[in-house]
Amino acid sequence: MVVEALLLDLDKTLVNVEDFTDYCSALAELDAAGYAPRVRGPETYWGRCTKTVMDVLISLGGAEWARANEIVRRYELIGAERAVAMPYLDLFLAATERLPKAIVTLLDAEATSLVLQRFAIKTQAVVARVPGIRPKPHPDPVIHALKLLGAEPDGAVMVGDSEWDEKAADAAGVRFIAVTNGRQNHNFKTPYIANNLKEAAKLIQEL
Ligand SMILES: [Mg+2]
Repeated sequence: MVVEALLLDLDKTLVNVEDFTDYCSALAELDAAGYAPRVRGPETYWGRCTKTVMDVLISLGGAEWARANEIVRRYELIGAERAVAMPYLDLFLAATERLPKAIVTLLDAEATSLVLQRFAIKTQAVVARVPGIRPKPHPDPVIHALKLLGAEPDGAVMVGDSEWDEKAADAAGVRFIAVTNGRQNHNFKTPYIANNLKEAAKLIQEL
């Protein structure tokens, strides 16, 4: 099946924001405000603070979510200003230029726009962390991105570095390319494994 649309995770797939975001301070603020995880997403390789912050955010809804989100986004905006490109970002974008793309990210919407601007990443759609769309690992943002692109699940491929991305893609019926960033220990089930964006671009051409 030919690839007609790409759904792209942002953090540590295209750009490294996490390493420049003080999720431990965000977590301390969440903790002080009384927010703790009630549910947990899949195990992945994020730092402990990052994972717990994301678990808190997927545990909350409504006004609680909005307050917690406000805390986390302050730190992510700082991270977005300091973020660096992942290896082969420019090569990947050039190799996939003809394909319609959507960003599907757990990052705050404003931090996401800042990163996309800074690295001149052009996409037809962006689904960031916003109220009203249950985040990854739910399939909702993937399904929303497909709608925005006018694409069908079987014509799309999602590229991401985390087990959360794979779970969301699987649940939406979208093929998944895992970018391992060189890690040996992962829980990906997809047959499409890339060490980096250069290998991911090659896999997209071969699918
Ligand atoms: Mg990621």
